[in-house]
Amino acid sequence: MTLSLRPEPGTARPFWDAELETQSREQWRALALSSLQSHLRRAYEGSPFYRRSFDTAGVHPDQVKSLEDLRRFPFIDKKILRDRQIAVPPFGDLCAVPERDIVYISASSGSTGVPTASPFTAGDFDDWIDYEARQFWSSGLRPEDRYCHSLNFSLFIGGPCVLGAQKLGALTIHAGTVPSDRLLNILKQFQATAIWTTPSYAWHLGETAVKEGLDLKNDLAIERIFVAGEPGGSIPETRARIEELWGASVYDYYGLSDIFGSCAGMCEHKDGLHWAEDHIHVEVLDPASGEPVALGERGELVLTTLKKSARPMVRFRTGDIVSFTDAPCACGRTSLRMHGVHGRQDDMLIIKGVNIFPSDVEAAVRQDRDLTGEYLLVVDRVDHLDRLAIEVEYRHGFNGTLDELAARIERRLKALTGVGAQVRILAPDSLPRATHKAKRVDDRRSGVWS
Ligand SMILES: [Zn+2]
Repeated sequence: MTLSLRPEPGTARPFWDAELETQSREQWRALALSSLQSHLRRAYEGSPFYRRSFDTAGVHPDQVKSLEDLRRFPFIDKKILRDRQIAVPPFGDLCAVPERDIVYISASSGSTGVPTASPFTAGDFDDWIDYEARQFWSSGLRPEDRYCHSLNFSLFIGGPCVLGAQKLGALTIHAGTVPSDRLLNILKQFQATAIWTTPSYAWHLGETAVKEGLDLKNDLAIERIFVAGEPGGSIPETRARIEELWGASVYDYYGLSDIFGSCAGMCEHKDGLHWAEDHIHVEVLDPASGEPVALGERGELVLTTLKKSARPMVRFRTGDIVSFTDAPCACGRTSLRMHGVHGRQDDMLIIKGVNIFPSDVEAAVRQDRDLTGEYLLVVDRVDHLDRLAIEVEYRHGFNGTLDELAARIERRLKALTGVGAQVRILAPDSLPRATHKAKRVDDRRSGVWS
């Protein structure tokens, strides 16, 4: 049997839920406030942790008359989630429903410490998958598409996101994480039109396909690539390189294992990520003072769920450094848009007193067409002074001078980040390729990879 090569163009319906998605900013705020009041009450009444925590802080859900009143409530963070889960197994006392109401759990990858489980009721799960469908729709996915989900299914919150594409009506291929040659065969055999993976892996998979002699634009039918899990998807230079390689459009998504697989994603205009504002309230705070920063400024993302009943999250500090805008988007949607994750606070390097994120270096490196785009930050301490080196690779076929190339990259990095770094140019394929999340920093000051 031969499958037809390309589906017919999608329908003209622009929104998944037009009334919700195009409401005024005032309506978004009013909706958030009414959800917040009842959500905080549910947390207080259902969760022993929140009752204790609110009582200790001298706050009560009935005191919340505006969204700003939330600022009097205490923060939670990953450590609290983990500690409470250990103290009250298996899900911790932040849970606000009895276990019989829980139908699904995801768990964080657990690369460090104890994996924390994120419980969902049937209603929470339906809300989440409906949001995934809405977000996919805004990125142009349609029932005519063949969507290949190439994320890990093992406890990982990214796994069930495929059900959003299924709910939307697309044909879904639950591929999971399989070896690259097998995945390429799947994409080719079924002529998939969309795929979801990490940005590093999208790049790696594209390069592997080319090496194996596949013509990405003719042998495969990929039109849309959804990416998440790394800052790269928000960096225009990185998206442009992946788009050029595949001849497809790249959409960045952002999710958190403790809340939803996707909390935000790009529409067709790609000017930031539309936020799931009816499900999750956003604060952007100065990480040191805990005070809000002005709209558009960079700060730490702090989240409060508005509906999730199994485990409400009240003022969860994500550690992610982001910025937001409420300016109208050309697509007509009015939700807040996140301008990417500039990095995690944990990933931020301080070199000679200057803050620098690997994503800043990535933007500089990926502008240059004489480089492959792979890079590694090597941080060392020599004579008590921090020293940053950037390892990059020249491209196959490059015939210029390596010294000139290095000097050019050094100048660009200095202009972009304010930090002077030594640039080491390596031969193509010298740096390790990522099959999931890329390691971009080799911090030799502490002797560990971060
Ligand atoms: Zn938009």
